[in-house]
Amino acid sequence: MTRTRLARSPMRRKRKPSRARVMLDGREVLTGAAWEQRKREVWERDEQQCQWVVEDVGYPAMICGVIVGWKDARYNIDHIVKRSESRDDRASNLRVLCPYHHRMRHEQERELKWSRHA
Ligand SMILES: [Zn+2]
Repeated sequence: MTRTRLARSPMRRKRKPSRARVMLDGREVLTGAAWEQRKREVWERDEQQCQWVVEDVGYPAMICGVIVGWKDARYNIDHIVKRSESRDDRASNLRVLCPYHHRMRHEQERELKWSRHA
């Protein structure tokens, strides 16, 4: 699959139009205020808690559970299926992570990427 990347002009960066697009396969792609609103919904659904699954525990799975304030949550809403693979901004594909676990997730991804290309 090839994707064209839009050139980033300063104009584009200034303000994203609010948009909610539904793809043919049901995925949603949100921008601007629509995306902000979706993040807020996910934050409320997740009861403002980090959803990172702590390994090696029984059912129900134990999560990190750290309370994440809205200021942090805005920048730490995580796409369960990575955005780079298949962009899906539906709430079902989103979760709140604390800054620590969000960083950890992306570090793990980087390591995977490197080992794949090694
Ligand atoms: Zn966490």
